[in-house]
Amino acid sequence: MAYAYDDQNIFARILRGEIPNSTVLETEHTLAFNDIAPQTPHHVLVIPKGPYVTYDHFAAEASDAEIADFTRAVGEVCRMLGIRPGDGGEGYRVISNAGETGVQEVPHYHLHILSGRPLGRMVKKAD
Ligand code: AMP
Repeated sequence: MAYAYDDQNIFARILRGEIPNSTVLETEHTLAFNDIAPQTPHHVLVIPKGPYVTYDHFAAEASDAEIADFTRAVGEVCRMLGIRPGDGGEGYRVISNAGETGVQEVPHYHLHILSGRPLGRMVKKAD
């Protein structure tokens, strides 16, 4: 697999503390923060601290500890936001954009957690 990680991307700069963020949760291997341009009332980004570009890159090269920490952090953010269906919460959608087809803007792996309004169907039909 040939991923070149650009350490000047905006999330790398957030992780180095060079630009501020609105942190929701920080763990050993993971940071969750509010999206700067929220698409929904709850819009949290969850990123690994390691230099991974996409979901598949993370899945292939992250350690088990990083993957477990990241996955637990996503669940914990859902708990903190009160959106878990199992708790009577309204639910949510998790999205990870990758590459051109996914329209990924920031080349550091991230999950979007979206909630707070009805989200409609998963993907718009092609025009
Ligand atoms: P994507 O298209 O999946 O790469 O999404 C990148 C997301 O990062 C967008 O939703 C942006 O609003 C968000 N974003 C960009 N810069 C920042 C920042 N400095 N702090 C928080 N979110 C940001």
